[in-house]
Amino acid sequence: MFANNCLISIVVPVYNEQDNIDMFYQEVVKYMEQLAYCFELIFVDDGSSDATPFIVERLAVADKRVRGLIMARNFGHQIALTCGLYHAKGNAVITMDGDMQHPPEMLPLLISKWEEGFQVVQTVRINTEGASWFKSFTSNMFYKLMNAMSNVQVTEGGSDFRLLDKQVVASFRRFRERARFIRGMISAIGYRQTKIEFVAPRRFAGKSKFSLKKMLHFALDGITAYSKTPLRFAFYIGIIMGFSSIVLTLHVLYIKLFTVEAVPGWATITASILLLGGLQLAGIGIIGEYIGRIFEEVKQRPLYWLRAEFGQHKERNKE
Ligand code: UDP
Ligand code: MG
Repeated sequence: MFANNCLISIVVPVYNEQDNIDMFYQEVVKYMEQLAYCFELIFVDDGSSDATPFIVERLAVADKRVRGLIMARNFGHQIALTCGLYHAKGNAVITMDGDMQHPPEMLPLLISKWEEGFQVVQTVRINTEGASWFKSFTSNMFYKLMNAMSNVQVTEGGSDFRLLDKQVVASFRRFRERARFIRGMISAIGYRQTKIEFVAPRRFAGKSKFSLKKMLHFALDGITAYSKTPLRFAFYIGIIMGFSSIVLTLHVLYIKLFTVEAVPGWATITASILLLGGLQLAGIGIIGEYIGRIFEEVKQRPLYWLRAEFGQHKERNKE
């Protein structure tokens, strides 16, 4: 069904992964050479401060199948993936992490699913070896919240290890937003999708690059990009509070008109002012979050810029 001159692109964002790249390269080559396809291995260096860009350059010089895109600074994992997807030329493009947590031995399986005719082969992490209780818990909570709140369904444990047919990649390139949550975008994009499960091993070397702050930003990007529920939430709370205050006012009037009680209402008033004040601030905060995102998007800044490019194919693929 597929000719031998079909090209498979493998896109790998790397950020300070100097101790992983060589090992990763060898493993990918080992599994890809067993298949009948040509391949290109694209490392997207996300502004690393260690030797990563030099190693990428060395590999690109030594092996014509390797390309290096060196970004001018750290733009984040999702933008690095986007940059790789803009430059990939393959009939199918596989995105994966460079720390061995997305096992290269699964490459033939992903490709065989594509040969069966699936255009998106999504991998699902059923477990991560050595993941802290906190990371697993927050990750699960995030997916539950995201799916409850938004109209796109993101698979729990869905990772950025996936294969996309070139038709899907072309559609992906038409997404214009800055704040990117690629899992949501792919889920919303449609086409023939399938899933395969895997257990993510530990990192080969180094530490996770995702701090709690980065995870939180990532989660907020995901939720605000695909859900208006938080905005509605502020509205519903406002309605509930509005009704409650009518009831409260009636109660106050009743006491004033029909009883002889004095005015010891201080506690009630203070409590209701505090409650309403808090809720108003929360509502304004939610609106502010969305307005901030509108502001970021309307500036229409470039998503990233490159400092250097190594390897054979230099023309860009963007549009
Ligand atoms: N990464 C990146 N830019 C960043 C953070 C991470 O390109 O700002 C890369 C990193 O080098 C790795 C992949 O994204 O190849 C996944 O990152 P990491 O392993 O730190 O995430 P985790 O597996 O802990 O979720
Ligand atoms: Mg990792």
